[in-house]
Amino acid sequence: LPAIELQGLEKWYGAFQALKNVDLTVQSGEKIVICGPSGSGKSTLIRCINQLEEIQGGTIRVDGKALTNDPKSVRAVRREIGMVFQQFNLFPHMTILENCILGPIKVAGVPRAEAEEIAHEYLKRVRIPEQANKYPAQLSGGQQQRVAIARALCMRPKVMLFDEPTSALDPEMVNEVLDTMIDLASDGMTMICVTHEMGFARKVADRVIFMDHGEIIEENDPEQFFEAP
Ligand code: ADP
Ligand code: ADP
Repeated sequence: LPAIELQGLEKWYGAFQALKNVDLTVQSGEKIVICGPSGSGKSTLIRCINQLEEIQGGTIRVDGKALTNDPKSVRAVRREIGMVFQQFNLFPHMTILENCILGPIKVAGVPRAEAEEIAHEYLKRVRIPEQANKYPAQLSGGQQQRVAIARALCMRPKVMLFDEPTSALDPEMVNEVLDTMIDLASDGMTMICVTHEMGFARKVADRVIFMDHGEIIEENDPEQFFEAP
């Protein structure tokens, strides 16, 4: 069973069609990189998968199950699919640890002590075990983004979505976040990444998908994609 299956996806913002008949099948363990010009629908596509956007046509299946607007379905998807945004989106008034345990406690119903254990485990994984009691503003951008990755992992998701995770970072911090993503990829995580980092794509992607004007216009393995014409 594919991890994610999109069929005939249609997304409209009012009279503007942002996604046009998008089909995409992502197998478990696959790493997909989505690229394409600004405004081509990359962000919309992954936001639809996580049900941050309502769709107007087509179907989304996660682990073979079609998504609906039913709040139970939305909650189930949020548990199975982790998302990392361009702007870290950490809660500024909460410590790193509190940011990490919120999802497991509120969404997954994990007891606090266990949630804290899980959080420490993943903060270690992203190599910031010492920062648990600090606040986001006390961390560098690269560290904050690694916390955002750890926070998503604390839900033990089956799929991770990344929406330009390094675009808001100072250049010297890009690699520490990409390295974390590379670690995750080598652990076998299913990943869909919107990114302009072609070195990352080349190293990690099983397939590179190119979008333009709301459509997937090209799909290649990275070797073909980066071959000079
Ligand atoms: P990308 O991620 O490729 O830059 P987006 O998915 O963010 O593209 O946007 C695709 C198109 O949809 C753009 O033209 C954008 O302006 C439009 N769009 C995105 N979000 C909204 C919204 N909430 N309301 C109206 N139009 C939107
Ligand atoms: P990105 O390219 O990273 O997706 P954008 O700048 O396109 O970022 O969008 C930032 C936010 O503004 C998103 O929440 C998006 O949905 C919203 N947005 C984008 N374009 C429009 C638009 N034309 N009208 C209304 N909201 C928009």
